[in-house]
Amino acid sequence: MKKIETIDLKQFGIQTIGNFCDPLTGECYSDDAKEKIMETKIDPVCKMEVKVEGAQYVSDYAGEKYYFCSAGCQHAFEENPAKYVENTVQD
Ligand SMILES: [Zn+2]
Repeated sequence: MKKIETIDLKQFGIQTIGNFCDPLTGECYSDDAKEKIMETKIDPVCKMEVKVEGAQYVSDYAGEKYYFCSAGCQHAFEENPAKYVENTVQD
């Protein structure tokens, strides 16, 4: 009689809790990797977290990109960027 073996789901590329395994490459990604993709930046005006991916309000200042939660925050930043950049550095 053949013994029943425990199947390792990962080798079949099946999504398990906390991990996603690519069926083509066999590589597994943890939740940490997903969080990197969903990177957030702090809105320098109101200190809210803004998702980088799909961000609507982005400004370039002194070679850096700044992300805003709204047009209002972006406008306030562009009126006086140095003020907010200085505040960010002090944090
Ligand atoms: Zn804001």
